[in-house]
Amino acid sequence: MANNIQAIRGMHDILPEQSPLWQYAEQVFRDVLGAYGYSEIRLPLVEKTELFHRSIGEVTDIVEKEMYSFDDRNGDSLTLRPEGTAGCLRAALEHGLLHNQVHRLWYYGPMFRHERPQKGRYRQFYQLGVEAYGMAGPDIDAELILLSARFWRKLGIFDKVVLELNSLGTIEERTVYRGHLVDYFNGHLDQLDADSLRRLNTNPLRILDSKNPQMQGLIANAPELTEFLGAESKAHFQALTDTLTAVGIRYQLNTRLVRGLDYYSKTVFEWVTDALGAQGTICAGGRYDSLIGQLGGKDNYAIGFAMGMERILALVETVPGIAKTHKIDAYMICVGDEAGQLGMRWAETIRDALPTLKLQVHCGGGSFKNQFKKADKSGADYAIILGEDEVAQGQVSIKALREERAQQTLSLTDAISLLRNGL
Ligand code: ATP
Ligand code: MG
Repeated sequence: MANNIQAIRGMHDILPEQSPLWQYAEQVFRDVLGAYGYSEIRLPLVEKTELFHRSIGEVTDIVEKEMYSFDDRNGDSLTLRPEGTAGCLRAALEHGLLHNQVHRLWYYGPMFRHERPQKGRYRQFYQLGVEAYGMAGPDIDAELILLSARFWRKLGIFDKVVLELNSLGTIEERTVYRGHLVDYFNGHLDQLDADSLRRLNTNPLRILDSKNPQMQGLIANAPELTEFLGAESKAHFQALTDTLTAVGIRYQLNTRLVRGLDYYSKTVFEWVTDALGAQGTICAGGRYDSLIGQLGGKDNYAIGFAMGMERILALVETVPGIAKTHKIDAYMICVGDEAGQLGMRWAETIRDALPTLKLQVHCGGGSFKNQFKKADKSGADYAIILGEDEVAQGQVSIKALREERAQQTLSLTDAISLLRNGL
């Protein structure tokens, strides 16, 4: 057995049979984003490691243990992006997009995290991210949630997801809360697991994020951040929930929702499903005004979300009748050397005349029988046939492959008309 090289664990090929569903969902996202006036931004896959240390925060899963970092040949530490928010904001600051402007942006592409691969959790995965700059909210907060809700409706998965919502308040409010939380956990040190003990002094809010089932009782009884919100944070959250109610978006208040990353304030949300097992969050985001200052910008506003394509597609696949296949309309059969050459030429003429027709030309020769088999397997609705007789007469034959109908032999021009109008 040859020692074949395989893909890296947790990094997957998207095979031709899967790509139609990806393309379908990507098109839905593009259409919806366009309808809300969002513009695409394309960002590098690699950034300076420091960018993620400064933005995501040292005491987070991503920076502590998930980043693919390496030294460039000239000794700079670089990292394959684990998420898009940092790079997007880096680009916005670098190109002055935050100077007296508002921006509604989206990006799409692979992210890299060295996690334990399992269903819904990969080392290379695709995210679509949406970021809005320069708007204090809560109107834009609501818009982002509405936009994401429209994604789910268009994909037919709206009834499978729930919106969880929380407010993290301001940094000052969180500092006060943090004190109370540390006191509470200090009173129950014996119940904290190793991760949580470590986080108690560095990032105690993250303890609330723990997935450890044995910690859930302790977490459920912890003080709630909501009690520590000031008037402005409360008003922001109230206005957001009022808008959601007015437009008919249901949500669940989840006071334990703190999000994994350090940079959020005020609004945070997640769209979750119970149809995918443990990895149930398909989309997550929130407001991160303070990150702008953290990366050296002047005070401003920012909010965004990111969604995991693999998890969304896994959910879309549970919708009956959603299967997408790569389908061609016509298959050209050419028997004989002369026919092979003429076929290539005429196929070009047909594609010029009928740009939306999906026409595949048989390559590699073979008998009529063999080529008809391929045509049938291709899923095409009809075969365009060039054999010795057709070449001699300067004509083509057209045969319907999926219904009983007489084969027709006609000039190329007439064949094009026939194809244009449907057989
Ligand atoms: P989780 O709690 O599942 O680890 P997270 O908080 O790390 O998620 P975010 O950084 O908020 O995730 O990323 C946004 C979305 O990207 C997630 O809700 C999820 O849909 C997707 N995602 C994150 N990590 C992965 C991964 N390793 N594989 C596949 N999708 C992922
Ligand atoms: Mg994670």
